[in-house]
Amino acid sequence: MQDVWNAPVSQVYGVGEERAKDLAAVGITTVGDLLEYFPIRYEDYRVRDLTEVRDGERVTLAGTVYGEPSVRFYGKRKSRIAVRMVIDRVVVTAVWFNQPYIRKQLAPGKEILVTGKWDKHKLQIVVSEMTEVDSARARNRGELVPVYPLGGDLTHAFLRKTIERALQQFGQHLGELLPEELVARYRLMPRAEAIRTIHFPDNAEAGKQARRRIMFEELFLFQLKMQAYRRISRQQIKGVAQEVPLEEVRRFVRSLPYPLTGAQKRVVKEILDDLQAPYAMNRLLQGDVGSGKTVVAAIALFATVKAGFQGALMVPTEILAEQHVQSLAAMLEPHGIQVALLSGSLTAKKRREMIGALQMGLIDVVVGTHALIQEDVFFRRLGLVITDEQHRFGVEQRRILRSKGLSPDVLFMTATPIPRTLAITAFGDMDVSTIDEMPAGRKPVETSWAKHEQFHHVLERMRVELRKGRQAYVICPLIEESDKLDVQNAIDVHAQLTQYFPEYRVGLMHGRLSPKEKDDVMQAFSRGEVHVLVSTTVVEVGVNVPNATFMVIYDAERFGLAQLHQLRGRVGRGAEQSYCVLIADPKTEIGRERMRIMCETNDGFELSRRDLELRGPGDFFGTKQSGLPEFKVADLLSDYKALEVARQEAASLVAQEAFWQEARFAPLRDYLRREGILDGVVFD
Ligand code: ADP
Ligand code: MG
Repeated sequence: MQDVWNAPVSQVYGVGEERAKDLAAVGITTVGDLLEYFPIRYEDYRVRDLTEVRDGERVTLAGTVYGEPSVRFYGKRKSRIAVRMVIDRVVVTAVWFNQPYIRKQLAPGKEILVTGKWDKHKLQIVVSEMTEVDSARARNRGELVPVYPLGGDLTHAFLRKTIERALQQFGQHLGELLPEELVARYRLMPRAEAIRTIHFPDNAEAGKQARRRIMFEELFLFQLKMQAYRRISRQQIKGVAQEVPLEEVRRFVRSLPYPLTGAQKRVVKEILDDLQAPYAMNRLLQGDVGSGKTVVAAIALFATVKAGFQGALMVPTEILAEQHVQSLAAMLEPHGIQVALLSGSLTAKKRREMIGALQMGLIDVVVGTHALIQEDVFFRRLGLVITDEQHRFGVEQRRILRSKGLSPDVLFMTATPIPRTLAITAFGDMDVSTIDEMPAGRKPVETSWAKHEQFHHVLERMRVELRKGRQAYVICPLIEESDKLDVQNAIDVHAQLTQYFPEYRVGLMHGRLSPKEKDDVMQAFSRGEVHVLVSTTVVEVGVNVPNATFMVIYDAERFGLAQLHQLRGRVGRGAEQSYCVLIADPKTEIGRERMRIMCETNDGFELSRRDLELRGPGDFFGTKQSGLPEFKVADLLSDYKALEVARQEAASLVAQEAFWQEARFAPLRDYLRREGILDGVVFD
């Protein structure tokens, strides 16, 4: 069956080299791609009974031409043809505009189908499409006709014909993929029937059922991948059971300058349990900005090192790497733990030395960007990988580590609280720990929204904070002038503020600075020598300067809610009241709604729920790094119930021994193998 699915599309009768190219342009290279090129909607060409057609409706009517057509020309190239037709023994008028050639096709007595807009009062149809009942083109008439997304030189006629042929040639080889029990339990249309029906449904209900079946299959296969992967990483890829000296960990926790929150204690326990268990940890740690994830990471790293392993912390930017090295070193080095930064800006020689030290086990904890796990970097005994603030540490990265003979515990930290539908999709293979409590004494950031014209007023409020000895961020979306986008330029704003606040030091931070320059600015800001930091979004994540209590976000409408919340999380990190001012003149109601939501809530979970509603799942993470699969039919928002069901069914299926052994599940196991889920897994 699968051979048919993966056969080149040129095997479909009528698809030559040229046509194959047209198809490839929209991503269709195999028979399976073609059959999965689902219609976005249907055009309704079912012949209607005149008595039930409403005024103004678009309909298809069948009737006989009665009498000679009359043609009238007017204006430039404008014409109107009218002819009488008998439909259901009623005489009506059919009208064509600007199609004078139609006249030849309108011989009296001819049976035709006309599609167009019905005018009940004039008993008239303005025709947009016409077919002679006996012509070859009438084949698709009287039906729901699929409408496909087109591209390049593709036409609907060609696509419909080709899909029809593919179904004729290969349709009988499309076997069932889902377990019979599921098909029965959820009353799903069999697979072959569903694929045929979604293209050429006999009626609207059949089309709906076909879509439901395909949507379920899509979600189920996806969840099967997740659940299989989860089970395999638990059972087949043996992690190490680290022998964590718990008493020493407790002493370390007691040595911290503050007691852990209840939520921090709970997630620390979940993580330590995983470290000590024989499987490889695969855990998502989510907690709002400022909820204290870094210290949890530090405790986990402490535990791993004291159990005799190395730890790695991966972060998305160099700035963040440097910041983390400092805070981790401050916590861990007093306990004899070596923390090092593997930075992209090291000289080749330094880098070689570092890699050597890692390999010999002289470094206990290494912090860096993604390059940490790549190519030439080897560890002596890597026990724990923590990734901070990023959504991509998936199957691929694990495979790289496994190829080095490593299957460390992995903890994945994110400050974007993720609504459940997305969490079980993007992170469906993971266990989830949530910090749902803020450290005591935090005051919520007071957020307000101002128009651009109020900028000076905002700066005066900032001055009040600066006079109290506090610091401020001013965030700008882009670093270069762009007439088109009309965005505020960080460099300009920096110049402007330097003039405005002669008594304070204003720093500038953006992605084009060298690592050294960035470091200098950040250091100066942390030490309080720079009072106002004008920056692009490079400070979005992780940066921790508790004395900063004021933030201005320029052109706030250009950011997503999750990102604004991240940015806002840079203030409100100390005991003082902090403020965030969004400067925005949004043009749309949704834009204004987003500003209001930001002012109303400080709760990241609440915010991400509303963001998801406003933007839909695709945009939620900011498309590129979403880690969300692209479904062809399923919709994460409207199909969430099916998503839950699919997840439960997939989990219970992979938990059965039968699934891994019996022949009837072979197609699903083949699917997992093709998706790379079973790579490196040995079955006995
Ligand atoms: P995030 O979750 O955003 O990474 P951080 O780990 O940076 O948050 O923590 C934010 C601030 O809260 C830091 O200054 C940290 O020292 C402090 N902090 C963390 N946990 C606690 C706690 N239990 N009590 C008081 N302060 C804490
Ligand atoms: Mg953090």
